[in-house]
Parts: sequence; C-alpha cells; structure tokens
Amino acid sequence: MTIMPANTGMITEIKKFATHDGPGIRTTVFLKGCPLHCAWCSNPETIETFSQLYFRPKRCKGFGACVDICPEKAVGMDIDAKVDRKKCTLCMKCAAECPNSAFMQIGEIYSLSDLMREIEKDKPFYGKEGGVTLSGGEPLFQAGFTLQIFKRSKEIGISTVLDTSGCAASEVVREIMEYTDLILLDIKHMDPQMHRQGTGVDNVLILKNARIMASMREMRVSLPLIPDYNDSEENLSATAEFALSLGVDHIDINPLHKLGADKYTCLGLASPYDAYRPLDKQDVMKARDIVKAHGLKVTVGRMM
Ligand code: SF4
Ligand code: SF4
Repeated sequence: MTIMPANTGMITEIKKFATHDGPGIRTTVFLKGCPLHCAWCSNPETIETFSQLYFRPKRCKGFGACVDICPEKAVGMDIDAKVDRKKCTLCMKCAAECPNSAFMQIGEIYSLSDLMREIEKDKPFYGKEGGVTLSGGEPLFQAGFTLQIFKRSKEIGISTVLDTSGCAASEVVREIMEYTDLILLDIKHMDPQMHRQGTGVDNVLILKNARIMASMREMRVSLPLIPDYNDSEENLSATAEFALSLGVDHIDINPLHKLGADKYTCLGLASPYDAYRPLDKQDVMKARDIVKAHGLKVTVGRMM
C-alpha cells in the first residue's frame, strides 16, 4: 500500500511559536479527524472530519441578526439554547455574518501550498531544534496530507515531529516515518479491553505500530493520566515496561485537565468531565513514582 498524496487537508488551528510540542520553537498544525474517541478528549473539535459550528455564548451581544440569517430557522434568541443542532445544516451563514465571532466555523480546508507558506514564514525562528509538528486529532487520519507536508518540510530543511496515537494502517505508518524526525506517542492504556472502553478501539494495532515507529525513528512517550481509568499501579508499570521495550527512556505524564470543557459547550455537546474525580498532587506524584521505579525519567506536563 502506498499513501495517495493529498494536496489539501482539513485543519482546525495553526499554533505559532509552540514550545511544548517537540524540541525548540515550533509551528503546530492541528489536523481534523481522529479514529479514536477518547472519553476525556480535550480537543473535541478535532475528532470529526468535517467542519463544525461553534457558538461562544460569552461573545454573543444578543442583537439577534443571526436569527433572520439562518435559512433553516435553527437559531433562536435563548443564549443557552441558541442553535437547534438537529435543524442546522452547517451552511455557516451565521458564522460568516456574526460581527462578534460568537458563531465560528471550526475546520477549514487548506491547500498544501498555503499551509507550507505559513510554516515557512516561521523558519527564521526555528533555530537548530525547532520546526513543524503535526497534531490533532490524529495526523495519520489525513495520511496523504501529512505525507506531503512532511516531504516538503524535509526538502526545505525543516524538522518534522508527529504527535500521534499510533492508530493507522502499519504501511501508512512506515511510509510517514521516512519523513519524520521525532514521534510523540500518546499511550492511553496497555490493556486492549480497557483501551476500547476509553477510546472506542483496542490497542493491538497501536502497540504494533509503536514498535514499528520506535524501530525507525526517535520516540517520546506520553501518558494522559485519567483517574480510575489508567492510573493503577498495574497499568502504569505495564506502560513503563512497554516504553522501555521500545528503547524510550522518558515518559511524560499529562494529568487530566478540564480546560476543554468550554469547547464541548460551544459544539453543543455535553462535557464529559463531571464523570471524573479531580486528580490531586498526591495522585500525580504517586503515578510519577511508579513509573520512575522502572528506571524511566518522568516529567509531568509536556516538557521538551
Ligand atoms: S450554520 Fe447555517 S443552518 Fe446552522 S445555525 Fe448557522 S445559519 Fe443556521
Ligand atoms: S486520540 Fe487525542 S484527539 Fe483523538 S480522541 Fe483521543 S485525545 Fe482526542
């Protein structure tokens, strides 16, 4: 299987001067679409592959022009129930007209040339270590676009970092590795059933791909620390041993945070965070010590 190159892709955000998405100063591109549906996802706007409508209540001044603009009569004056999502056809007329950007289109098609122009603009700031990071969502879900971005970046001397869950066909992974300098692999759970329970898919292919990627390129491993899901001693130890088997000597633990809660509201979705007990410092230190006991270096929160 060879990846079909794609010269356009769907993007939610281009983050400039990022310092936590790989070494040095980086431009991080968030691609839309993810085969996983992690219950705790802090970027819910990146999971679906299509453009979505955001409504930000705090920006709405209540003028109500959007009520007349909407051809589907899906917009009302009630700020807490502004959009009837069942009627909305995602025409984005409200997003185009709203003077306060309370309505916004999330997800935009970019051409490869336009995106590379954005990435190249930042080249003077990358220094020896920086470059482009592809994140998401899952960049391997738009493999053809990811391949093209990395290929072009390497041609012009820009370093490439892939921030991935590792969920893609192994042939795709192998091909992308040819143009990848560093992999940031996020491991959710070591048990296949638990992985399926938390993300919607098991981890058999993911662990296989992790071995392929680690055999081809430098890898860093991170673990989202989710209370009462993957924070048991058994799972943390299994994750640490797996990382060691990949030749990785460092794990980054990212404790669950609830900063994505507003995003769920803006997408008209229920926030998942009430289902989780808050993590305290002791929980995080305990997890750190369990991983450390296996001889790994540990950082808490992405430290590059
Ligand atoms: S996207 Fe279109 S259909 Fe949906 S609420 Fe806005 S104007 Fe109405
Ligand atoms: S892999 Fe990442 S982007 Fe995809 S659902 Fe999970 S947390 Fe969200």
